[in-house]
Amino acid sequence: MTKYAVIVVDMLNDFVTGPIASPRVHHIIEPIKKLCEKARAAGVPVIYANDSHTPEIDKEFKVWGPHAVEGTKGAEIIDELKAQPGDYIVPKKTYSGFYETTLELILRELGVDTVVITGWQADCCCRHTSADAFFRGFNIVVPRETTDTDTEEGYVGALAYIQKIYGGKICSVDDLF
Ligand code: ZN
Repeated sequence: MTKYAVIVVDMLNDFVTGPIASPRVHHIIEPIKKLCEKARAAGVPVIYANDSHTPEIDKEFKVWGPHAVEGTKGAEIIDELKAQPGDYIVPKKTYSGFYETTLELILRELGVDTVVITGWQADCCCRHTSADAFFRGFNIVVPRETTDTDTEEGYVGALAYIQKIYGGKICSVDDLF
């Protein structure tokens, strides 16, 4: 039997209403909420992989400008998707939810074999998290309505890449749990 975990990437104030928000992020909120509710009801763990940057020094600031600085409102999960008791929160310093974080340890201890990757952005943090999941032997599932990025081309390209290169299964929230 498949042992899933849902990973919610970077659904933080700065990415939704803050300095690097995109108009394309808003429509993924409800589908992620629905997926997380289904997951919790089915006993599937929900894990948030959240940017939590160190002021001044993080490399990403050169590319994106300052965002999601640890301890600020901008680095908090948006109200609509607030973590619930029993969820896990993994702070990260760069694009991948796995890089120098506790994510792999949590997944192993939970006996997870398949990660459901959702959140923002499909072609950056979701893609890099998918790469690291693949390298570690996890199966990957992406519900198509739970991620997006700044452009349609970027979105379509990211899902095609995750499918082709990492063997990711692209599905819908209704297909899961
Ligand atoms: Zn960042």
